[in-house]
Amino acid sequence: MYRPLSDHERSLSSRLLDAHKALISLDNSRPAPNGQIIGSYVRIDRGNPTVSDLCTSNLGAFRSMWPGLLQSAACPSPNETDRKPPHLQVAFTHGMVCGTDADIACGTPGSRIDLTLSRASYVVREVTISKKVPIVVHVLGDVGSPQRYDLTSVLLHEIGHFLGIDHFNPAQRPARFPAALLGIYKDDFCLSPTEIMMMNSRADETWPYALRVQHGLRRRR
Ligand SMILES: [Zn+2]
Repeated sequence: MYRPLSDHERSLSSRLLDAHKALISLDNSRPAPNGQIIGSYVRIDRGNPTVSDLCTSNLGAFRSMWPGLLQSAACPSPNETDRKPPHLQVAFTHGMVCGTDADIACGTPGSRIDLTLSRASYVVREVTISKKVPIVVHVLGDVGSPQRYDLTSVLLHEIGHFLGIDHFNPAQRPARFPAALLGIYKDDFCLSPTEIMMMNSRADETWPYALRVQHGLRRRR
């Protein structure tokens, strides 16, 4: 979507229409044959012409559609300088997290992530899509433990809670569809399009579904 928006040779309304077409085509996205969905964020400098153009434009009829949401998310609000960005603290503990031994980690919205080392070891992996590049595996703790967790997957889940996203209802996803915010740990954690949408929605401070209490991640069964 960013590419059509940044073509400054054309009027804002025609750029918004092209971006809308790009957005609609996202609806046709399906999981790849290996079951993985690749999603990414683009860090946008507020000083760049596309953003300042968007922030100073009257969106007209687009205001009630996604461009209006984009404008409120990307453009500085008048009282923004008064707000402090959340500070994330990540801590390992030998004790329980979220008040139960059943959880491997616990995320507190806007505050912290706690990971337990009790009966657990973490595996950090760097996996590339091309088979020509070797897979690099870093191990923390006991790799032979049946309670092995991929640290990236656990952090991905808890960062969701840190940002204020609740658990994802497994009934709402197709079979074998990866998701990062399921309540029980799985090895194939990956952000689903729905979760990316929830995180984008969470950028809006007034999003009504924001999580306010801490939430954990159940150990393997
Ligand atoms: Zn959780």
